[in-house]
Amino acid sequence: MAAMFSVTPVGAFSDNYIWVLHGDARAVAVDPGEAAPLLRHLEEHGLALEAILITHHHADHCGGLPELAEACPGIPVYGPAGIAGVDRPVRDGDAVALSFGRAEVLAVPGHTLDHLAYLMDGALFCGDTMFAAGCGRVFEGTPAQMLDSLKKLARLPPETKVYPAHEYTLSNLRFALAADQHNPILAMRQSRDAALRERDLPTLPSTIALERASNPFLRCDEPAIRQSLRQRGGRDGDDEAASFALLRAWKNDFR
Ligand code: ZN
Ligand code: FE
Repeated sequence: MAAMFSVTPVGAFSDNYIWVLHGDARAVAVDPGEAAPLLRHLEEHGLALEAILITHHHADHCGGLPELAEACPGIPVYGPAGIAGVDRPVRDGDAVALSFGRAEVLAVPGHTLDHLAYLMDGALFCGDTMFAAGCGRVFEGTPAQMLDSLKKLARLPPETKVYPAHEYTLSNLRFALAADQHNPILAMRQSRDAALRERDLPTLPSTIALERASNPFLRCDEPAIRQSLRQRGGRDGDDEAASFALLRAWKNDFR
């Protein structure tokens, strides 16, 4: 089914995207880390903010809330409990009713323990959990927990569009190509996405199908990736979660 809303990226900081969804003149913003670019976008497009969705407590995702509360008073803010400015705490399995549909709430702990993703009409807003060809750092959870969360997202229908909160694709692809050297899809993505970035265009959304086929963090059990892990550190993991942990540690040091 075609989505009844459009999705537009609003750039924030150096590489964040605030995703703005709108059906008619009412808009929903995901992860407004800062208010000014969002307010400018709403103004330019004649949109009124209807609700805000927050994925996790990091400031580059919710730092704009105090200013937005002043600029657009009374707008409901959905997100994990315990974040200043979130007045409608939600959790796994909840649904958020919006004028143009319902957003399903999925718990995806790992990057942070409170991390949520929102799924609406085949569009997934996954914050810092799944990136195009990558994943977020494991700051609060365990590698096994992060892997479980990524796999939960990977089980969504293949055509699901993936809207992460950062434009990290090119650096993720450089690492992915080091870990999974002969994956032809990665080479294709790299040339396509480099051309997009040269024109200052977003590389997003991705799709679950594309991530399943080429995101190294969803492929830690593939022989090619296990071989790269052994070449780098002398061993791969005893199981998928251990390989995921080794791969994530490698990415943390990768330049
Ligand atoms: Zn974060
Ligand atoms: Fe972030």
